[in-house]
Amino acid sequence: MLSTAALETRVDLRRNRLELMLKVLDVDGAVRRVRGGWESTGRPWDYDTERYERVAATRRAEQQAMVDYVGLDSCRMAYLRAALDDPELTPGWRCGRCDVCGDVAGDSGPEAAEVTAARERLALPGVEVEPRRQWPSGMNRLGVALSGRIAVDERAETGRAVARLDALGWGGLLRDLFGATTGTSARAPDDGLPVALRQPVVDVLGAWPREPAPAGVVYVESQSHPGLVRHLAEGVARQLGVPVVGTVRPVSGSEAGRHDVNSAQRLASIVRRLELALSEPAAAGLPGRAVLLVDDRIDSGWTITVAARLLRLAGASAVHPFVLGVG
Ligand SMILES: [Zn+2]
Repeated sequence: MLSTAALETRVDLRRNRLELMLKVLDVDGAVRRVRGGWESTGRPWDYDTERYERVAATRRAEQQAMVDYVGLDSCRMAYLRAALDDPELTPGWRCGRCDVCGDVAGDSGPEAAEVTAARERLALPGVEVEPRRQWPSGMNRLGVALSGRIAVDERAETGRAVARLDALGWGGLLRDLFGATTGTSARAPDDGLPVALRQPVVDVLGAWPREPAPAGVVYVESQSHPGLVRHLAEGVARQLGVPVVGTVRPVSGSEAGRHDVNSAQRLASIVRRLELALSEPAAAGLPGRAVLLVDDRIDSGWTITVAARLLRLAGASAVHPFVLGVG
């Protein structure tokens, strides 16, 4: 039996690709998933060149059909019905309603101003992260006295992420970064912020108007990537010319919260776990000042929500969340 992490040291495949290959081999009966990893079933397996070429040829034909559809100068519905082998399609049939048949006027494009606004928004680096506005219901049953709307003065501001985890571009790098350290694998690297992400971080910070301007950086002490988050926070602080003034950290002795639970359970475990760790001068200087709050990623959003609330309750005038990945 080999774990996925152990397999990674033997094959030159990224985690996603490796897992995909294992699933294919599983379906073909060559390997099976067992507790903690994978094992061979002992059944022989060969690369079925002929079969995969057939599949690839079918996919290419489907792509060509889509390209042809776009360029049609005859009824589009007739083309679709023919492509789907509709037995009731009679030669020469026309739908009378598609753009080719009906000659639909094409004047329903978006307003030029809207197009410009969308372009400008898309050109900005980073992703806006809206704060949570509502506590989950039923928190009192879990012994946590939070309900209804999150008070405006206990809420985070709209924050920024470098990228969505499901996005192209930086998303792939972030998926690798988080994926590589979520398992129990011993090779989990925690070497600080990858070089490739430093410029994107600077770009997102530069394009992000923060009002009021943060006077200091606080970060969430991470159990999975302590080095990464600390390094990111220090870099952000240097970039903004403000100090790192403290952390939000797990109460000592508390266990890491699970992610695979519902919102209420997740929030309850975070509320019980997190505490603010500010030096005395930082705590004294916090009231009336804004803070930039750094974490590696936003998943359920409750860690940032709870951390921001702790800071607001301690007097911060605003809390601007900043993370690498969201989603
Ligand atoms: Zn038609």
